[in-house]
Amino acid sequence: MGRNLDPKCKQCRRVGEKLMLKGDRCSTQKCAMVKRNYPPGCHGQKNKRKQSDYGIQLTEKQKAKKQYNLNEKQFSITFEKAKKHSGNTGDNLFKLLELRLDNAVYRLNMANSRNQARQLVNHGHFTVNGKAVNIPSYSVKVGDIVKVKERSKKFKHFKDLGEKLKKATLPSWVNVNTEELSGKILHLPTMDDIRSNLNIQMIVEFYSR
Ligand code: SF4
Repeated sequence: MGRNLDPKCKQCRRVGEKLMLKGDRCSTQKCAMVKRNYPPGCHGQKNKRKQSDYGIQLTEKQKAKKQYNLNEKQFSITFEKAKKHSGNTGDNLFKLLELRLDNAVYRLNMANSRNQARQLVNHGHFTVNGKAVNIPSYSVKVGDIVKVKERSKKFKHFKDLGEKLKKATLPSWVNVNTEELSGKILHLPTMDDIRSNLNIQMIVEFYSR
């Protein structure tokens, strides 16, 4: 699958919101949305046209796609899956996105960004219920234990992770074991568990057109 190679800060400036794509830097004054809070390009500061309904829906879809680091095809496949599940499609979509293994690693504070989480998963640093999994789209379930592999604990990224996890703020649907460098999925995530900036209903409307 092709990766989105657009500069990350430009992606935030394009949708007009912080998408937190660069980890720690996103919470500092160095964030491009702090310094240049307008769309990229030479007309970025001039073009302040009101968005149509379609434009708003498209922007929400783009925001979600970029935030979860998915391409167009991956995102629409996820939406189709959400539609097939029973219940509210928006809630299903949110759950499917949140339960991706790369996102779970990010939510467990074991990576600074989803991009880094995906790379760590790809490089085979995690197990799920004791089995090695290197597929970022792998869907974790309630009760699953995501753990850093023993042999990976000597890598620089994981050396101080235990200390970092002790100070971490976690969403209510996961908890961590700072000694073992593992995390457990406690319950299915809901929009109330996370201060999400996404309007999922707009995304559902985008695909229902
Ligand atoms: Fe977006 Fe700011 Fe992070 Fe750049 S630093 S990716 S603009 S949130």
